[in-house]
Amino acid sequence: MSISTNIKYFQSHLPSRVRLVAVSKFHTIETLMQAYEAGQRIFGESRVQELLPKYEVLPKDIEWHFIGHLQSNKVKHIAPFVSLIHGVDSYALLEEINRCGKKIGRIVPCLLQVHIAQEETKYGFSFDELRALLQQEKWQALTNISIRGLMGMASYTDNEEKIKQEFHSLSVFFKELKATYFAADNLFCELSMGMPGDYSLAIREGSTLIRIGSAIFGERNY
Ligand SMILES: *Cc1c(COP(=O)(O)O)cnc(C)c1O
Repeated sequence: MSISTNIKYFQSHLPSRVRLVAVSKFHTIETLMQAYEAGQRIFGESRVQELLPKYEVLPKDIEWHFIGHLQSNKVKHIAPFVSLIHGVDSYALLEEINRCGKKIGRIVPCLLQVHIAQEETKYGFSFDELRALLQQEKWQALTNISIRGLMGMASYTDNEEKIKQEFHSLSVFFKELKATYFAADNLFCELSMGMPGDYSLAIREGSTLIRIGSAIFGERNY
C-alpha cells in the first residue's frame, strides 16, 4: 500500500471527532512529504533532535505533536512551535514547559500522560498521583501551559478485554477530571489513546487522537 492510500484510508474511516497523528519518527523528509501531499497535517515525533530539522524544512502548516518521553533540558527547543506535547508525566516537566513558554510569550498545549498499562516500563502519572497534583492549586499558576487532556498507552497484549478495560478506565478518569477541574475549560477535550494494534478499541472508548506510524509509513529503518 502506498502512503497516500494509507492516509486516505484513515481519513475516510475515522469518526469526525478523531484526528490521526501520523507518527513519522525515523522516516525521511521525502516520506513525510508524501503524507503531506495526501492531506495529512498532524505529525508525531518522539525525539527532539529528529523533530527540529524536519520542522525547519517541511511546510509551516504542519501541526507537530511531540509523543515521546520529553527531557526537561530539551523543552526549550520545541516550545516555540510544538502544537501538542502528549507525554507530560511529571510536575517538574510541566513547570519547565511553562517556564519556556513564558520566556517566548507562548502558551504551550500539553496532555498529561497517565499510566494505564500493566507494564512497569511505561511512563505516566497514576490516577491517584494526578488527583493529588490537581488538588493542589499550584498548577493553576502555570499560565503558559494549556492542559488539553490526557494520554495513555494500553498494555502490549492481544487480550482485547484487558485493553478495552484500560482505555475505559482512562476515559472514565478523563470525565472525572473534566467535571472536577476543567468543567469551564472547553480546551480540555483531548484523549490521546490508540495505536496500530488497538486504535479501534480506543475509538470506541472515546479517543480523540490516535497515533499511527507503521500502518502508514511501513516499517522503520533505525
Ligand atoms: C512510535 C509510537 C507510536 C506509533 O507506533 P507505530 O508502531 O509506529 O505505529 C504511537 N505512540 C507512541 C507514543 C510512539 O512512540
